[in-house]
Amino acid sequence: MDKAICKICGSRTSVLPDQQLNRIYHLCDRCDYISLDAGCRVAPAAEKRRYLEHNNTLANQGYVRMFQEFIAAAILPHRDRITTALDFGCGPEAVLAALLRREGLMVDIYDPYFAPEQVYRGKSYHLITATEVFEHLHEPLETAVLLKKHLAPQGILAIMTLFHPQDPGQFLHWWYRHDCTHTGFFTPRTFSVLAQKLSLRLLWANEKNICVLENAC
Ligand SMILES: [Zn+2]
Repeated sequence: MDKAICKICGSRTSVLPDQQLNRIYHLCDRCDYISLDAGCRVAPAAEKRRYLEHNNTLANQGYVRMFQEFIAAAILPHRDRITTALDFGCGPEAVLAALLRREGLMVDIYDPYFAPEQVYRGKSYHLITATEVFEHLHEPLETAVLLKKHLAPQGILAIMTLFHPQDPGQFLHWWYRHDCTHTGFFTPRTFSVLAQKLSLRLLWANEKNICVLENAC
């Protein structure tokens, strides 16, 4: 079993057994981060298969609408300072990247499974997006450090991941945890603590699934 140390803030965590799914979670009271125990994760090949089951294409109107709302809420308010962008964890179809290019941005993409070339090396971006990515990360702090390294000064890191219901009893009835590839769960407080650790500033978050961080350097 994982050590009882939060992977975001380093505080001691408590164990939350999930008898329905036969899994173990680790709960952090200080930053709200909940992580799936490493022993309960699926293998990478099964993970990739699961991603390919999604119908995430430009032809899927609901999926496109979700990104249009994300762009309107998280990116357009900062549009005048953004020329270059990286869509980190773009998935098999890179739909968000296509929509951002329609907005006139120059967009690089990266995905460990579907666009694995590390095109961001040696570059910094005005905007980095990570949508439906953080819930899949095994080491979210490490990834956040990497993303911060590639953010331009005052650059924007726009994240989308469904925020968990905070109450452990509600968490154990929450549908989002059923996806076997979801290994970490966040609230705006988690990102606020993460931001403080990395000299980022939490500019804005909604109550559901979006938060916007700014590079304070
Ligand atoms: Zn924590």
